[in-house]
Amino acid sequence: MSNEKIPYKIYLEESEMPKEWYNVRADMKNKPAPLLNPGTLQPMTAEELAPVFCDELVKQELDDTTPYIEIPEEIRDFYKMYRPSPLVRAYCLEKKLGTPAKIYYKFEGNNTSGSHKLNSAIAQAYYAKKQGLKGVTTETGAGQWGTALSMACSYFDLDCKVYMVKVSYEQKPFRREVMRTYGASVTPSPSTETEIGKKILADHPGTTGSLGCAISEAVEVATKSEGYRYVLGSVLNQVLLHQSVIGLETKAALDKIGEKADIIIGCAGGGSNLGGLISPFVGQMLRGEEDYRIIAVEPASCPSFTRGKYAYDFCDTGMVCPLAKMYTLGSGFIPAPNHAGGLRYHGMSSTLSQLYDDGLIEATSVKQTEVFEAAEYFARVEGILPAPESSHAIKVAIDEAKKCIETGEEKTIVFGLTGTGYFDMFAYEKFHDGVMDDYIPTDAEIAESLSKLPKVD
Ligand SMILES: *Cc1c(COP(=O)(O)O)cnc(C)c1O
Repeated sequence: MSNEKIPYKIYLEESEMPKEWYNVRADMKNKPAPLLNPGTLQPMTAEELAPVFCDELVKQELDDTTPYIEIPEEIRDFYKMYRPSPLVRAYCLEKKLGTPAKIYYKFEGNNTSGSHKLNSAIAQAYYAKKQGLKGVTTETGAGQWGTALSMACSYFDLDCKVYMVKVSYEQKPFRREVMRTYGASVTPSPSTETEIGKKILADHPGTTGSLGCAISEAVEVATKSEGYRYVLGSVLNQVLLHQSVIGLETKAALDKIGEKADIIIGCAGGGSNLGGLISPFVGQMLRGEEDYRIIAVEPASCPSFTRGKYAYDFCDTGMVCPLAKMYTLGSGFIPAPNHAGGLRYHGMSSTLSQLYDDGLIEATSVKQTEVFEAAEYFARVEGILPAPESSHAIKVAIDEAKKCIETGEEKTIVFGLTGTGYFDMFAYEKFHDGVMDDYIPTDAEIAESLSKLPKVD
């Protein structure tokens, strides 16, 4: 075997790191549908988005034509502290499985926030600082995004107000303390600090909160506080753009060793890590240069791609945000309390939704217990303790590698390992104790939620 030539970890030199992000929308013939103003149902203009988002980020959000956008030097300098992230050849996993497949994973958990979210957090904080703002507000569910943003804000000396879903605030005290260590203020949501929070508390006393509610609180505070804007960790076009650094590095590393991927796999919550990982590869497909099989993996408990509808919907439960056309389960859909907090969003990035609708990517859903089985298997052979979200991709990568045992094909499988699972040990505990369940919503539940989609056109 010639495998010996490829090292276990493939790193890029500093000089080989991307200097530009890649905007896949520029190469899409069918552009993602625009965000709509929920009042007028007309496409949101830059002026309408300006009170909520930073100016430069609004520009990136609306830009469907510029393929390459320069990564400012300050952001590249910050990236150098934890990037390039390694592309790992999973020799141990291949051997254990006995597969002829070659498996690679791009590991984004090598920074203190523990996930890929820092790639966009630092960009969003940079543009906020450049605009002379005092600070930003956001929501966090599982806590990864809040952690990444608090790190980014402390680097640029910006105030950071995080509204954390109350149930996670109580269950994940260490996430909260990491955020406070980086100077963020963390408020359990719903809170009495906002009008929407007070209203939700009055209507539902004792509620443990939801992501949709925390978004509404964070947006309210941003729009009412002088010098503040709201930032979001996934779903938006700008976030996919920043996350393209993952795919650009992956492609550069594969090119460097003369390898071509056959199958690319990523977990899909709001779609930012998957979108970032696949962007340069999808770009090649769109330009007719190469072909890949791309698989999005979502939880069976929150199956936006595989069982949702491609329609305009609200991005939040409070219905204050613009409407986005996406694969959605309905903004009122409350997924069963599974343990991949980062994959519990009701919708999906509009860019990925369009690519899926055009047949460029496939999607599959997996059950929670199978995901934890794969996570544990992986931890024991490759050493890394994976986040539950990332383990969705591991599960499908292992399945594809097993298929190669049957067919004898030497396929090259690349998957995104988005983060580590140190703050998810209660979930691992449930799995080990055999008390983890696999709730899958019924057709009737999904239909009920979809019946409340806003009426557009
Ligand atoms: C947030 C998160 C995800 C899911 O978000 P996407 O926007 O779909 O990438 C996946 N993995 C980890 C570790 C996360 O923190």
